[in-house]
Amino acid sequence: MQKLQDLAAHVATEFEKVYGRPPRWIAAAPGRVNIIGEHTDYNDGFVLPMAIEFYSMMAADRPVDGREVITLRSTLETEVATIDLSRPVVPTTPKWGNYPRGVVAGFQAWGIQPGGLDVLLHSTVPLGSGLSSSAALEVCTATLLEAVTGTTLDPVEKALLCQKAEHDYAGVPCGIMDQFISALGREDHLLLLDCRTRKTEIVPMQDPSVALLIINTNVKHELSGGEYAERRTQCEEAARNLGVASLRDVTAGLLEAGKSKMSETAYRRARHVIGEIARTVQAAQGVRHSDWPTVGRLMAASHAALRDDYEVSCPELDAVVEIAEAIGEKGGVYGCRMTGGGFGGCCVALVKASSLDAITKKIATDYKARTGIAATIFSSRPAAGATILKR
Ligand code: ADP
Ligand code: MG
Repeated sequence: MQKLQDLAAHVATEFEKVYGRPPRWIAAAPGRVNIIGEHTDYNDGFVLPMAIEFYSMMAADRPVDGREVITLRSTLETEVATIDLSRPVVPTTPKWGNYPRGVVAGFQAWGIQPGGLDVLLHSTVPLGSGLSSSAALEVCTATLLEAVTGTTLDPVEKALLCQKAEHDYAGVPCGIMDQFISALGREDHLLLLDCRTRKTEIVPMQDPSVALLIINTNVKHELSGGEYAERRTQCEEAARNLGVASLRDVTAGLLEAGKSKMSETAYRRARHVIGEIARTVQAAQGVRHSDWPTVGRLMAASHAALRDDYEVSCPELDAVVEIAEAIGEKGGVYGCRMTGGGFGGCCVALVKASSLDAITKKIATDYKARTGIAATIFSSRPAAGATILKR
């Protein structure tokens, strides 16, 4: 929380530098890391993310001239985004402005008029690293608008409004995980989310002897673009051939019995998804019991399946996992896996808090030696979801 207050003070100062007066409102929303449950969301499965202590934060005030315009400045962008509220709010340039634009449109669709605003945006979530700076930005915008308009949305409705903003305004067909955890995260808790029913359950993770390490490989392999859609199609093929609506309805036994009904590739994709859904539920149970060796083993199994069956890993992600596995439980690593869609981005490792520094150094050194790339490594406790810091 202290970190958040310090950040709020920083953002208030930045606001004052740009707009020449202190802000009236400040809101924040966190990024996230998914502990386990990868590529399960669009298969109606479970995911187990946590909010991280890295935030998108907005400071705002009414414009001095009283105009019905929202002016957005980001500390990370030179181009200013404006939203003229006297016209229909549609996607335009700069592109980064489309995330908040979609949220503003969502509020309007609900009959809530935000009115003109001067906004300064700052983010400590690294952009485009798979830690969901986009959802943080959307949920931060929605939280700011709640403060400004004096409304409180149901957090689930708020998350869905933000997801719609990303679909319709940023053109990204994302699932529901990122916005849900950014809106509903609780300090010292993970969130078990059932992507089929949208039911959530908070899972306490209060044991101070463990920590999560996030290792950014700092690579993002450019793909032809069809990989994500292709995986989805293969999962649909497997489900269809097994006569069910989604892979959520398939057990490992059913898959084996129906193996001959699908291509070898579809079979392997399904094997990952079905295994991963089960692992995610088991991992949540392991966290509840502070059974870290079990959670770590499930994370390792998740990575192996993503690498071998789902084929969404890459040499750099595999290198991090191999280095972490070489350190092993003796050295304080319970488990490590790629997190996010794959082909680059981050790994997440469950480690002993007392070994945090030694593990960080070891991974940094060995990763650099193996790949020639410097990783960015940081740790986070499970953080709280979106908050209004000044109203
Ligand atoms: P991720 O969500 O994994 O960080 P995305 O590609 O989904 O990656 O979202 C990143 C995009 O979100 C950026 O390219 C930018 O358009 C927008 N964005 C997020 N935070 C900010 C910010 N503080 N300032 C400007 N744009 C931002
Ligand atoms: Mg994103």
